[in-house]
Amino acid sequence: MDLTESPAEQAFRAEAREWLAANKPALPMPPGDSAAGFGVHRDWERKLFDAGWAVVSWPHAYGGRDASLWEWLIFEEEYYRAGLPQRVAQNGIFLLAPTIFEFGTQEQKDTILPRMAAVEDLWCQGWSEPGAGSDLAALTSRAERDDERGGWRLFGQKTWTTRGAFCSHLFGLFRTDPSAERHRGLTYFLLDLDQPECTVRPVDKLDGEAGFAEVFLDGAFVPDADVLGGVGEGWSVAMATTGSERGLSLRSPGRFLAVVDRLIERYQEQDAAGLIEDASLREEVADGWMAAQAYKLATDVTVTRLAEGASMGPESSLSKIFWSEMDIALHETALRLAGADSNLDDEWARAFEFSLAGPIYAGTNEIQRNVIAERLLGLPRK
Ligand SMILES: Cc1cc2nc3c(=O)[nH]c(=O)nc-3n(C[C@H](O)[C@H](O)[C@H](O)COP(=O)(O)OP(=O)(O)OC[C@H]3O[C@@H](n4cnc5c(N)ncnc54)[C@H](O)[C@@H]3O)c2cc1C
Repeated sequence: MDLTESPAEQAFRAEAREWLAANKPALPMPPGDSAAGFGVHRDWERKLFDAGWAVVSWPHAYGGRDASLWEWLIFEEEYYRAGLPQRVAQNGIFLLAPTIFEFGTQEQKDTILPRMAAVEDLWCQGWSEPGAGSDLAALTSRAERDDERGGWRLFGQKTWTTRGAFCSHLFGLFRTDPSAERHRGLTYFLLDLDQPECTVRPVDKLDGEAGFAEVFLDGAFVPDADVLGGVGEGWSVAMATTGSERGLSLRSPGRFLAVVDRLIERYQEQDAAGLIEDASLREEVADGWMAAQAYKLATDVTVTRLAEGASMGPESSLSKIFWSEMDIALHETALRLAGADSNLDDEWARAFEFSLAGPIYAGTNEIQRNVIAERLLGLPRK
């Protein structure tokens, strides 16, 4: 594999870097999980869209630049290098969009993707329910046929819906055939939340921001045109979404490379001031750097596979365990470096709190280990 960037890729990187430096908002931005902060993030992401940087790897017609996946990785590196935060549009552009590209009808692509890229519609993920998390196929929210209007009516409750309180649309799994075996009889729906039959109740996180919501559905309507991938096909369509969530688009290497750069800076500042008493910290910082580099190289292998036409597959579980554990380790090192000066409200401490959720969301790491055991190693289920 040739890891050198081509002249075109170098020019792409330089252009992205220059634009981000000239246009980035005042940092740090307020949290995207508060009503006020969400608006600030949305304005920033609209600005990215207006300049063609919101979804670089998408076709021009949908607001992208037709960039390669390699260029997308470069953009992500530059984005996080500039100190910018994760995107409030992420569940749409990084999870739902790849699934629409793979399974969507032409009409769905043409109507949904441009509005998503322009942050006109914001999407949240409606999978988990009070009685269905790791065991997603246990979900009981259901859809009933409405032949008169040509669509479906949704009933039930979704929970842990990230930024649900601020989103306009929800993609989710619902049971369309109660008599079918658990994984069958599920359908993937694209729902407009702006209906009286949808009640969205914000749920505060540990830090007090309304990062989650519960979504109650009491007959909300979805037209047939907004079924993604066919009635009864929901499970396999959803598995494609999990591939994006665990494997590539949600957590690109650029995010972790930027954390490591800041960690090294922090170490060097403290070292210069003679504040490093524990010599093992030096090794920990070096370990963090190596882990982030390893993740970048492993991602290069994934992108090569995808560019050759492979699909993400269960290998995404390997990535998910790696990035979530690495994220915690990097932030633990940062807090150790800060020592007694650590401040609970400091950006590092907040990022540390969020890193602790990594082994839970996108499917817990225990579940990923089950997937690896059964689907990659071929071990027996029991
Ligand atoms: C920050 C964050 C954001 C989230 N955002 C969303 C969202 O936007 N949309 C959404 O739908 N959901 C979201 N979730 C929910 C998330 O997907 C679930 O929390 C997760 O799938 C685990 O489900 P659960 O919480 O019901 O735990 P449970 O499934 O009850 O699991 C409890 C514990 O048991 C373990 N366990 C369960 N089954 C097994 C097994 N078979 N083998 C070994 N161990 C097992 C689990 O690993 C875990 O440690 C989010 C969660 C977090 C933390």
